[in-house]
Amino acid sequence: MLGPMFAIGDQGAGVPKPSARLTELPGYGRGRAGPGIAFAHRLGSNEAPDPPSAAVQAAVAKAMTGAHRYPDLRGETLAEALANRHGLPADMVAVSAGSVTMLDQLIRVYCDPGDRVITPWRSYEAYPIIVGGAGARLVEVPLDGRHRLNAAAILQACRSEARVVIICNPNNPTGTVLAPDELEALLDAIPAQTLIILDEAYADYADEAAMVAASPARRLARHRNLAVLRTFSKAWGLAGMRVGYCLADRSVIAAANAVAPPFPLPATAQAAALAALAEEDVVAARIAASLEQRGHMYEGLSALGFEVALSQANFVWLAVGAEAEALTLHLSAAGIAVRCFRGEGVRVTTGTAAATQALLTAAASWLSR
Ligand SMILES: *Cc1c(COP(=O)(O)O)cnc(C)c1O
Repeated sequence: MLGPMFAIGDQGAGVPKPSARLTELPGYGRGRAGPGIAFAHRLGSNEAPDPPSAAVQAAVAKAMTGAHRYPDLRGETLAEALANRHGLPADMVAVSAGSVTMLDQLIRVYCDPGDRVITPWRSYEAYPIIVGGAGARLVEVPLDGRHRLNAAAILQACRSEARVVIICNPNNPTGTVLAPDELEALLDAIPAQTLIILDEAYADYADEAAMVAASPARRLARHRNLAVLRTFSKAWGLAGMRVGYCLADRSVIAAANAVAPPFPLPATAQAAALAALAEEDVVAARIAASLEQRGHMYEGLSALGFEVALSQANFVWLAVGAEAEALTLHLSAAGIAVRCFRGEGVRVTTGTAAATQALLTAAASWLSR
């Protein structure tokens, strides 16, 4: 459940005092067991339910044999493979230890303290932490009544000196998407001096694989102020390896690299990502399984009477408002970890068929309690 990532609290005399920026930052929650609770179904963090394939595990084991040496300075081997996959030159790709690290780099290089960063809200909980940590100001644009991004309101917010706009599509935690033509019109209309960070952590669940691979190059050909973020943590099943990347104009990639630490990717993580890239069929099967369970969840929960947002990601959003915490506790008692957004809703990740069954049973008993 939600808890602070770190406690700033009272530092006391005689110890260094962190920047006052930190006192304002929210914590990052985690859908995981508290002490003494073992969850049978971990549906709180949008992870893949299946472990890495034998080929990925073998590649990691092989990389370990060379782990006394530094890896690529900038993860060039993976960047080249990704450039290939997306039909872009290698200098339009930068890799990072998770896409949140890349987001942090981009915010630091494009924002000075006090600058405005626009984002639809509710969205990904890492945004306020990263933006606030850089001393920039997050401007939250409310979702519409159906939990969708409001393109007109985003555009209006961007028109008054926005340095950066972060668009999460499909949006976490609601799973809703802007239709391709709506998104295209928005990208066209946002002023050219505003950096658009398009966070596509869940793109793989929303479209055909060929489109998912091709869409960044198509968009980047039209928008030099666009940075597309992708991750290996969700559909690619490697959350524990921490691999993310950015596809963008050369100038954006160069700026992001300017603040990247050397050797951003462990050799094992790069090897895992390369091996996963070579097994697109595994990813396709994982996505198909997730979509199947999402359909069962959506239908089952809707039939029970829950308001379920129309999701195109590997999770569903239950807009239960003030009941979010009580529902989370109820599911937790049934051995199901979910992500609670206090006062707003509950996000439930797709898992195995058994997890869906357990969820629907527990949701029914919640309603008849
Ligand atoms: C999970 C997620 C990410 C991925 O973060 P990593 O650091 O790559 O694990 C990025 N953005 C959103 C919106 C997410 O939900």
